[in-house]
Amino acid sequence: MILRLFNTFFWSFFFAIGYISVYRRIEEGTIRLYRSKQTMLKFSELILVMYASTVEISLRILHHFLTTNMWTMVNLQTVVVLYTCLTLRNKGINFLFLLVVMATFGSYGTLTWVLWLALIGLLLVLVVVNRQSVWLVSRFKRYLAFVLLFGTFMWFLFKAFYAFSWRSLWLQLFCYICVEAIVFNYSTLLKNRGAASAQLLYETMHDKLTGVQNWAKFNQDFQLYHELMLSTQINEISLVAIDIDHFKQINDTYGHLAGNAVLTSFAQNLNTYIRQVNSEWSVYRTGGEEFNVIMAGSNQATAKQIIQAYRKQLRNLKIRYEDTEICVTVSVGMTKLLGNDVRAEDTIKRADQYLYQAKQAGRDAIVTGY
Ligand code: GH3
Ligand code: MG
Ligand code: MG
Repeated sequence: MILRLFNTFFWSFFFAIGYISVYRRIEEGTIRLYRSKQTMLKFSELILVMYASTVEISLRILHHFLTTNMWTMVNLQTVVVLYTCLTLRNKGINFLFLLVVMATFGSYGTLTWVLWLALIGLLLVLVVVNRQSVWLVSRFKRYLAFVLLFGTFMWFLFKAFYAFSWRSLWLQLFCYICVEAIVFNYSTLLKNRGAASAQLLYETMHDKLTGVQNWAKFNQDFQLYHELMLSTQINEISLVAIDIDHFKQINDTYGHLAGNAVLTSFAQNLNTYIRQVNSEWSVYRTGGEEFNVIMAGSNQATAKQIIQAYRKQLRNLKIRYEDTEICVTVSVGMTKLLGNDVRAEDTIKRADQYLYQAKQAGRDAIVTGY
């Protein structure tokens, strides 16, 4: 008995850990492939369902050729089904998966009307699990209570229809609960690690003070756009360099902290404005009081109109710091990516030169060129 328990537990344990690890890798890998969130999610979930279905069908085939114990396989299939239903968000894709599950569970031979009822019951439970997944996995005790109930019900139902000993039932039920508990904790561990590394990644790409993206991200994005331009996938990319006028005076008059407040308010104001115009564009803080915007897909005339409109609304921005209200103006240099810009730096340098000219022309001005 002890040896049988050890055998079942051993295989189930490593199977569950392996299943979840690969599942998470696929999730993370496919998410990086796509820029647009909607397409990315659907694509990612479709691959996950293909993976889960392959595992389900493989378990069924392995059992058919008598290499996997029938009841161990049922446990493993249940672990896969529950975990997958808990993580899938797309209703259509989840339904597709449930059809595969029904087909594999239904292929065990003669289906009496009681088994049909049990299958439909299982389907309903899985639909509810999918809908209530956030609530269900938010506490370990809650999840444990659920799998205890679910597992007990499932194993007693099997006992009523198939000839196996009570010993086998307790053994399988015990293994099922243990493996589900491991699945929950291992999955939580991976999720927390994933969230921590995503947070670190976010911090390396964003400016701590203003919250907008930083120089490193600008450099990375602009290099990418430069490559896209050279491969003619995008034909119009405008680059905007923005510098706050006489910012040193703000620091000198009101203090460094007031300067920080001005930088933050200005950056947020500019970012909100730009994102309203095009949600794919963003603002980068590329120096102390210098910002850049990459307007992909926009020609220079449109880019200039956008910036002119922004400067108009900037006149109404009064940044409050303690008892004072501070107003700012900006100087702007604009250019576009050219096919003969060998390096991305060539474009950045040109935008800087036009910004310098705007300063020379008396500030609060835009200079464009290419
Ligand atoms: P111009 O119109 O020619 O751009 O003049 P300016 O005063 O804006 O430019 P200058 O380059 O002379 O000064 C920029 C100042 O910005 C100097 C620096 O102390 C200040 N600065 C840079 N980073 C920060 C920051 O994070 N917080 C604060 N408060 N000040 C900063
Ligand atoms: Mg300045
Ligand atoms: Mg400057």
